[in-house]
Amino acid sequence: KITVIGSVNMDLVTLADRTPKAGETILGKAFHTIPGGKGANQAVAAARLGAEATFIGCVGDDDFGRLMTQRLQDEGINIDYVKPVTHVSTGIAAITISEGDNRIIVVPGANSHVTAEYVQKHEEVIAASDAIVLQLEIPVDGVKKAMELARKHRVKIILNPAPFQVLSKEMLLLADYLTPNEHEQAELLAAGNWTEAEREEILQKCIVTRGAAGASIYQNGEKLIPGYPVEAVDTTGAGDTFNGALAFSLSGNADLEEACRFANAAGALSVTKLGAQGGMPTSEEVAEFLQR
Ligand code: ADP
Repeated sequence: KITVIGSVNMDLVTLADRTPKAGETILGKAFHTIPGGKGANQAVAAARLGAEATFIGCVGDDDFGRLMTQRLQDEGINIDYVKPVTHVSTGIAAITISEGDNRIIVVPGANSHVTAEYVQKHEEVIAASDAIVLQLEIPVDGVKKAMELARKHRVKIILNPAPFQVLSKEMLLLADYLTPNEHEQAELLAAGNWTEAEREEILQKCIVTRGAAGASIYQNGEKLIPGYPVEAVDTTGAGDTFNGALAFSLSGNADLEEACRFANAAGALSVTKLGAQGGMPTSEEVAEFLQR
């Protein structure tokens, strides 16, 4: 049983030949709406692998909110704790791609309603989980509350510190596993004024994803769990797939190395298809891939 507490975003992607100047209107080439949000993506990754997944989050009382809640449900995720909030939009990312560059505006909208108070209301859901999975696209006090509740009930905590922000020592130490990518890990270790012992304690919790190379764990010094070579088509959501798969595997009592191998395989499969959620594999697909 995995509970993901996090964000839901609709990515609104516009492709154009160039970036319009202030006050100018130009014609674009294409437009796509792509469901995302790290929280929703990680929940979908876990559910597709066969996890009994529950999502705690907020959407707006609008079409994107309804659409994305339905999608979560279609993936078999329990959406009883997804709350439609009035007078605020569902989270969106307005992305313009032109001249090989991205310009992105993220509006957290309803995601900013996943506060400590909101999370507190769902203590029982957290208590009944084997593991919870968190990211940083909702308010930090909501993340912290979820971690405190999970600790209280001895539920495993996986914190994906992305997008990176500086977190208190206290908060990082609450996590059982931290899953930064290489950039986030560098920022994480640079940000704190740690004692050597604290630094070591944080590092031991880290599972650092390294793209095609795989992921490193640090229980007895650094050990790289190698990735699987694939033809990458779209790496969006690789990290989210990795996190969902890791949670799934760890909640089934796999040891850390085994869980990382499984998550590497799921991550590798996810990059072979377009879209963050589009390429997320089932357990059968992972098993078949690992036998090849
Ligand atoms: P993020 O997307 O958060 O930056 P990474 O790029 O480190 O995260 O990718 C997460 C995981 O997905 C990696 O640890 C690896 O298991 C898998 N992965 C990512 N890119 C590739 C790739 N090109 N080939 C194979 N596996 C990949």
